Amino acid sequence: MTDDLATLRLLEQLIARRSVTPDDAGCQALVTERLAPLGFACETLLCGPDSFRVTNLWAVHRGSRPGPTVVLAGHTDVVPAGPLAAWTSDPFVPSHRDGLLYGRGAADMKTSIAAMTVAAEEFVQAHPRHAGSLALLFTSDEEGPSTDGTVRVVQALQARGERLDCCIVGEPTSVDRLGDMVKNGRRGSLSARLTVRGVQGHVAYPQLARNPIHQLAPALAALAATTWDDGNEHFPPTTWQVSNIHAGTGALNVIPGTVEVDFNFRFSTESTPEGLKARVDALLQQHGLDYSLAWTLGGSPFLTRPGSLSQALGDAIEAECGIRPVLSTTGGTSDGRYIAPICEQVVEFGPINATIHKVDECVRVADITPLKNIYLRTLERLLT
Ligand SMILES: [Zn+2]
Repeated sequence: MTDDLATLRLLEQLIARRSVTPDDAGCQALVTERLAPLGFACETLLCGPDSFRVTNLWAVHRGSRPGPTVVLAGHTDVVPAGPLAAWTSDPFVPSHRDGLLYGRGAADMKTSIAAMTVAAEEFVQAHPRHAGSLALLFTSDEEGPSTDGTVRVVQALQARGERLDCCIVGEPTSVDRLGDMVKNGRRGSLSARLTVRGVQGHVAYPQLARNPIHQLAPALAALAATTWDDGNEHFPPTTWQVSNIHAGTGALNVIPGTVEVDFNFRFSTESTPEGLKARVDALLQQHGLDYSLAWTLGGSPFLTRPGSLSQALGDAIEAECGIRPVLSTTGGTSDGRYIAPICEQVVEFGPINATIHKVDECVRVADITPLKNIYLRTLERLLT
């Protein structure tokens, strides 16, 4: 048995590794060193070009009788720290102050990586002849383009006919206190760059030009005022937001020739990418614009209806924290979207997310061992 500080010590070692996407910086090697001696088959999959080399880990412990395959998934990469001067202490030196542990990745999501690893160790030590299979799937490309990370491991598993039953992604989902929220799905994300063409000219001779900003403005207002759907029992309504607008030469006397607008849908299961694209096209055509659109589907929505996994996780949270989590599908996309197509039940659960991607990112030290215990209790429910 590992002691109560095992998760904290591993977490400190992980924070000290400067694993900015896609560099794993030896985080997964630390995990492998601990799990391989316990009988986990650990495979490292290096994916992507030399210029953007992604490290992925698939570590599996097979039980001795039939049962589900349960996966603990997460990412070892972190977002850049930004200007060091803004941090109270070095983001890659784990630092304790007032019951908080500071460091880049403390919340997103090295605490979960450490907790999942120690939970897996304790589980197979206590239950060497468990049912089913326990697997860990870690990537170093979640915060980046996510093209050579989890999705590549899923492709490899699919090619081998591997079947997954339950997956917990360790994203930081708690809001005010550990255990108050579990994500049982995520909205889809659909982005586009809209280019509207006009005719460049002198502002003093507008009759010789065509101002694409003026032409776009009413269409933009109409898009912003559109109700795309009303959401449903599991999802809030689909939202549409502009993130960037670019036009103009910088000169004050030139009507620009084009305007570019970047926008993004966060969509519920009540809308489809095809349907949203068609509605945007119809609206732009109604406004008589000369335009082009380049679409990027960031991820399709997924939903895990309440079942054995959310029940086991909810009971584990209640046992450790004394509260029942709310199930929610809010927030950004996660790697859950890549796992859901080959795994019937995917939920996300991790520590408080108040400081993720921020300066002075931190986690409550008092939450670290309870998080490990929640993962451990969930494994015991599903695999013994
Ligand atoms: Zn994350």
